[in-house]
Amino acid sequence: MVMYDTNNIFAKIIRGDIPADIIYENEYVLAFADINPQRKIHLLVLPKGAYTDIFDFGQKANPEEQAAISKAIADIAEQYELQKDGFRVIANCGKNGGQEVPHLHFHILGGENIGPMVSHMP
Ligand code: AMP
Repeated sequence: MVMYDTNNIFAKIIRGDIPADIIYENEYVLAFADINPQRKIHLLVLPKGAYTDIFDFGQKANPEEQAAISKAIADIAEQYELQKDGFRVIANCGKNGGQEVPHLHFHILGGENIGPMVSHMP
């Protein structure tokens, strides 16, 4: 089991220790713009609770926290009108998933065609 690192960069953003371009917030969820956008629209949606990844969240989060994430994704999609032409949601998990920041986050990518679901292996 991976221990949650309370000093990861997203924990600092949730605490308000470092700034972010916040686009959505409620009791359970925070969302902000990705600092290094990979598509025209690239947003990150996080539970405020201390969960390292989707596995940790799925095992431990209560039903309110779990529901709040899917509602936030839908609300944000509507806020940016992403439902019209579609968008992609990605949650990288652990080493094989290529996760860099060890606090669960969902990438929302949109505003243009996102491309193939995964890149081909070299
Ligand atoms: P992942 O590889 O799924 O862990 O994605 C981490 C994402 O966090 C990357 O897309 C980074 O560009 C983004 N990121 C890292 N630091 C910040 C920050 N301070 N504010 C906003 N996004 C960040």
